[in-house]
Amino acid sequence: MRERASPRFHTGPPMASFTLHGIPVSRGISIGRAHLLTPAALDVKHYLVPEEQLEAEVRRLQDAIAEVHRGLQALWTDLPKDAPTELGAFIDVHALILSDPMISEAPLDIIRTRHYNAEWALVTQIDELSAQFDEIEDLYLRERKADIQQVAERVLKVLMGTAQLMPPRATASADDYQPQMIVVAHDISPADMLQFRDRSFIGFVTDVGGQNSHTAIVARSLDIPAAVGMSQASQLIEQDDWVIIDGDAGVVIANPSALVLDQYRERQAAQIRARKKLQKLKKTPAITRDGVPVAMLANIELPDDCPGALDSGAEGVGLFRSEFLFMGRTGHPHKIPGEDEQFEQYRKAVLAMKGRPVTIRTLDIGADKPLDPTEHNALNPALGLRAIRYCLAEPQLFLTQLRAILRASAFGKVRILIPMLAHAFEIDQSLAMIEQAKAQLREAGHKYDPAVQVGAMIEIPAAALSLPMFVKRMNFLSIGTNDLIQYTLAIDRVDYEVAHLYNPLHPAVLQLIAMTISAGQKAGIDVAVCGEMAGDTKLTRLLLGMGLREFSMHPAQLLSVKQEILTCDMAKLATQTRKILRTSEPSAISEAVEQLQSI
Ligand code: PEP
Ligand code: MG
Repeated sequence: MRERASPRFHTGPPMASFTLHGIPVSRGISIGRAHLLTPAALDVKHYLVPEEQLEAEVRRLQDAIAEVHRGLQALWTDLPKDAPTELGAFIDVHALILSDPMISEAPLDIIRTRHYNAEWALVTQIDELSAQFDEIEDLYLRERKADIQQVAERVLKVLMGTAQLMPPRATASADDYQPQMIVVAHDISPADMLQFRDRSFIGFVTDVGGQNSHTAIVARSLDIPAAVGMSQASQLIEQDDWVIIDGDAGVVIANPSALVLDQYRERQAAQIRARKKLQKLKKTPAITRDGVPVAMLANIELPDDCPGALDSGAEGVGLFRSEFLFMGRTGHPHKIPGEDEQFEQYRKAVLAMKGRPVTIRTLDIGADKPLDPTEHNALNPALGLRAIRYCLAEPQLFLTQLRAILRASAFGKVRILIPMLAHAFEIDQSLAMIEQAKAQLREAGHKYDPAVQVGAMIEIPAAALSLPMFVKRMNFLSIGTNDLIQYTLAIDRVDYEVAHLYNPLHPAVLQLIAMTISAGQKAGIDVAVCGEMAGDTKLTRLLLGMGLREFSMHPAQLLSVKQEILTCDMAKLATQTRKILRTSEPSAISEAVEQLQSI
């Protein structure tokens, strides 16, 4: 392991360059300074505070420190007479630590100079102090690190109570201040990743993670280059190292030479030019050369993503991952959003999409999206009480969400999508609960669309192998290829050690997708693909050839996929794809899929 340097910017001789290889998860090239985040630091919100709000942020931290002081004072006063003397000494130590300039002043400087929000500034300072304590030989003194951390936690608790729910989006002035930070961390949860939407950061590197983990998916939706599964990146890369992320190749270069830096800058400029060119397709309808129209829909995590979806020419929302409204609610008075809060969010998305359909997926909590990240009880969470299983086990929570979605359906075209169905009774119970929610709304005098469509995600092999049961009961289907691949190939999509086995072109996966598309066609119901395969331009032709007419993906991928569609000949693709589906040899499949590019 390399020695850690404490100064914020390197001085002295240039650092040695090194390259790390991992898994590419979000495309593009980023060049910036490394910003190392420890697990503790990840628990708090990160955003850059605009110049004009710096002093208010400083006061917020000062007020929190003062409140903790008052709390400690009150503890002292209320100490029972017979309390052990260590207790009083312990309070004294905490009060002393709190008054030390290292805690009471240094974080204020960090706010002023680096523009970090109060929580982030405090955690940054604590991390730096902790690293210094680790170096101390004296065991007694070294153990005082725990006291410092406890004091910091007290302050953080107060701060979180005064925090804004969502940090403000970075303003131009905050961006100008420090626009080039690349996050380097051991791991980042999807909820943490979502906090980075303020765009203070231009790239993400993590030691662990899989290509289609929800963390990776959120990074893609932020349209920020990212690479995961980088093994020891967070130990090898130092704070403020120059870092290049090649998000197409999954390569990270630390301290690049001037020559390498120039090459990547050129590539980056070329990518920016190509993206600009794509913008011209925004209003062009997605129609193949032989005249077949294809629906282009967006995947979103929050209603705030809708303007971006419209901006990329999306014809609607094909997947609103509603669980992101339930995650990352640290500091919020309610752990779970209530009916009215949810309704406001769904309505916001519906109104933002201006009459275009919005497909709201019901809560898909569990696996790598736990409701409470501190609770890890399931033995195998991906196979446990996830998504619809969780909702059916918590009927009041499910009914609350269904009522909120149905109420939003009075304001535009809403479709309800149920995740992770496998059994007929799960479909029937879900439909019965939707009817129950409608009845409750009628009784309460709320409006909803009585003809609201209900669809199933096909993402468990059992579902893809029992399609008649689905098409008979559902209005539409949406193929979740991320989970369909995970469950078909029995590999955890979050585990980088099996990431090399995650293969969308496995013959079993292709058969299940093709069967689902054709069952939907025969039954006359819509079938979409909303998993990451829909946004992969190397697979666009294959999916079209299978008969897919509805693609749902992150807005950032939409125009590249549309560009592919515009150059396709559907009839020819269908013939070639039939041949691919009759092939069982993986290398022959890969070759044939590559050859589709010329059709
Ligand atoms: C999928 O599984 O493909 C999907 C779209 O849902 P998620 O990625 O949220 O599990
Ligand atoms: Mg899924």
